[in-house]
Amino acid sequence: MTAPLEVELYDTTLRDGAQRAGLSYSIEDRLRILHKLDQLGVPYIEGGWPGANPRDTEFFRLATKETLERSTLTSFGMTRRAGERAEDSAVLRELLDTGTPVVCLVGKSWDLHVTDAIRTELEEGVAMVRDSIAFLRQQGRRVFFDAEHFFDGYLANHGFAMRVLVAAEEAGAERLVLCDTNGGMLPADVARIVDDVRGRVGVPLGVHVHNDAGCAVANSLVAVEHGAFQVQGTINGYGERTGNADLIPIAANLTLKMGAACLPEGAVERLTEVAHYVAEVANLPPDSHQPYAGRYAFTHKAGLHTSGVSRFTEAYEHVPPRAVGNRRGVAASDLGGASTLRMKAVELGVELPEQALPRLVQEVKDREARGYTFEVADASLELLMRRADGWSQPFFQIESYRVHVEERVGDREPPLAEATVKVITKGTRHIESAEGQGPVGALDNALRKALTNDYPELEHITLEDFRVRVLDETHGSGAVVRVLIDTSNGQREWTTVGVSENIIEASWEALVDGYLYGLLHPRVDEPAQGPARVSSAP
Ligand SMILES: [Zn+2]
Repeated sequence: MTAPLEVELYDTTLRDGAQRAGLSYSIEDRLRILHKLDQLGVPYIEGGWPGANPRDTEFFRLATKETLERSTLTSFGMTRRAGERAEDSAVLRELLDTGTPVVCLVGKSWDLHVTDAIRTELEEGVAMVRDSIAFLRQQGRRVFFDAEHFFDGYLANHGFAMRVLVAAEEAGAERLVLCDTNGGMLPADVARIVDDVRGRVGVPLGVHVHNDAGCAVANSLVAVEHGAFQVQGTINGYGERTGNADLIPIAANLTLKMGAACLPEGAVERLTEVAHYVAEVANLPPDSHQPYAGRYAFTHKAGLHTSGVSRFTEAYEHVPPRAVGNRRGVAASDLGGASTLRMKAVELGVELPEQALPRLVQEVKDREARGYTFEVADASLELLMRRADGWSQPFFQIESYRVHVEERVGDREPPLAEATVKVITKGTRHIESAEGQGPVGALDNALRKALTNDYPELEHITLEDFRVRVLDETHGSGAVVRVLIDTSNGQREWTTVGVSENIIEASWEALVDGYLYGLLHPRVDEPAQGPARVSSAP
């Protein structure tokens, strides 16, 4: 029997992940993600590049005061410059000033970058790496060495790329991390190059790959198979251009399929939650189709698959959804029959008495004829099922809503929408008005204001996406529009649907059901440990 694979995860969501276009974390966001990854048990978390911007420096000042249970915080920076002494390097000084026990140092291993980008001799290129690592070691730091553009460098000038690695090892680097910085390698290249390098150095290898060829996860796993010990990546694959290797499927694959110990016991079951949490903090919509953690990762299309799922689930699932904390779903595209609805009710956790079924079947048929779709709008379907059994929601009653849009002709400002809603919650009447960029945004803001008086937990609920489709196949004068709204509470998302000849009415229906579903299924409380206590820092 071979010994189980051991793999060390290194997260760079806070540094490389932040390179994604449109992503910007506040310092509080970073501290929250730091604690979440610590709870998950990721051994190394890279906090950023101190000195690169004041925010990174400030982050380290605060983060090094936080208590981490399982993770080690690392800082990232570049080698000394050409012609400079390591002890005079401002960059290395900043790295030391952060006080992190581990520093990840990046250096050039592609000859072209040494001669053309920093315009120095190859000999000096090697010395920059050696001196910088030796200096950090003298100062008592552990050093991981990121060999930038290693794979391209190896293919272009194999001798130079290897000299850089060997110099890093001799200077005291603990990990030699081979980077596919351009992200263009294919698994076969990675396998071959890791094999060759592994035979020539003594310290454990790491791999850091970008996803430009769509192979980042595969390349990371192949590197492990061929002897890499450390895998660097980001949660949800956030990163510049097409992103970095996604640690969510990497951790799931390593644990569930490759038998590699890379996270503490029980952590893999939290991967779905962590993926969604980081998306929420990053203020990005979660990827519904992300392998393992996506909302639809285990959702089967009705029909052949559905009957398969209900009979023997393993036939259509590569792993049990629970293994990664996800859940199984069925996309109810032709709901038609009572049996599909019965199965759907079980999945949604709704008790559906047999005598309510005929009415529900008829209701679904009628609605589908009018343009409703429940294939993705599970939340609306659940509400419909509950109502079929005589249920009426106890949370709020809508009295009226109104919205108008004002465009000041000749004004340069975009038109502004203003909405007023009248709602009764727990016996109190609330009249709230709010503005918005569009009518739906204004209605959303006004409804939220009216409801949060009695339901403060709605602060976590956000409208994630809004899709409108004109259904031209219907009869009559006006075209019918269908609105689908995705709502999130930061832990999970759900979809509601509204249909009407009036786009505002269709939107309102989907919006109200979105909030209602959120109240029916509140968030599960998080462990008391996070979020970070920013204000406690002196
Ligand atoms: Zn990178």
